[in-house]
Amino acid sequence: MNAILIEGVLFIALLAVATTLVVFIVRYYTAAGRALEQTRNRKAIEHAASLTCYRHGAHDERSMVRLESGEVMCPECYREVTDGRV
Ligand SMILES: [Zn+2]
Repeated sequence: MNAILIEGVLFIALLAVATTLVVFIVRYYTAAGRALEQTRNRKAIEHAASLTCYRHGAHDERSMVRLESGEVMCPECYREVTDGRV
């Protein structure tokens, strides 16, 4: 009975290692993996740029103000707009 359980556990471990190896090879040694990495880099840069106001600098994501249209705005700019200073 123990041999069957151990064999099952080892088989599942083998599948996990094989899957991890395939994912690693695809991510780091193929053109598709490079394209995925480049897309991830672009999204990270765009996300950082969306959190940076050209007048007030970078902000934390939680401090940004979401407008009714769905766009995100710098809290200082929103405060200036609501106060009527802009
Ligand atoms: Zn701003």
